Amino acid sequence: MRKPIIAGNWKMNNTASEGAELVKALKPLVKDAKCEVVVCVPAIDIPAVKKAIHGSKIRLGAQNVHFAEKGAYTGEISANMLKEYGVQYVIIGHSERRAYFGETDETVNKRTLAALAAGLTPIVCIGESLEEREGGLTQKVLDNQIALDFQGIEDFSKIVIAYEPIWAIGTGRTATDEQANETIGYIRKRMKKVYAGKNVGRMRIQYGGSMNAKNCKGLMAQPEIDGGLIGGASLKTADFAAIVNFDK
Ligand code: PEP
Repeated sequence: MRKPIIAGNWKMNNTASEGAELVKALKPLVKDAKCEVVVCVPAIDIPAVKKAIHGSKIRLGAQNVHFAEKGAYTGEISANMLKEYGVQYVIIGHSERRAYFGETDETVNKRTLAALAAGLTPIVCIGESLEEREGGLTQKVLDNQIALDFQGIEDFSKIVIAYEPIWAIGTGRTATDEQANETIGYIRKRMKKVYAGKNVGRMRIQYGGSMNAKNCKGLMAQPEIDGGLIGGASLKTADFAAIVNFDK
């Protein structure tokens, strides 16, 4: 069985003190969660949030990681820096990073390998744009990302994929339960073929894209969907808690 994982992506929201307040309020609401609960916070919030989640089920995640161990990479953060602070998960290749910050499949792959080498769990985002979906190119785009983003990985039980159709992120337009289930099923099937013998069957695949307190039950009831990567709704304590408690 694959344990569901619900992760919040705060993006560039919440100062350190605001973040600490949010997780303090969240703690009692998620204490009986059966799934893994993660908050992926701005790097500068990590120390305060780490302190605030102490003694709870909430795990700490970051939103990006550099691929080099150290060196002249102004503004970047290494996997070991995150690890030393108790970070356990890191989002890699979010569509906003790909669109605004020049991330490519090659850098996504390098960052993923660096995260794994440091013992972090990468949450690697893949997905198609609206144009690509409407042009019937979804599988082709995913095939390409699958071929390039995961090269060199030996044990897929150690990574999480977030299938995030770009047209559903921050737009309020969610993929239907069936669309999300079907596409995630396709990703799993394709990964099993391309990376045969590398534990793909144990890899979790989340859905991400305007998942909220209302639509989470339907999405999470789908057999292929192992969790959610939540943007906007992760900034509202009650909404995020409702998603975490989707099975209640
Ligand atoms: C995201 O940023 O990964 C995301 C899914 O955002 P939202 O839930 O706001 O669509």
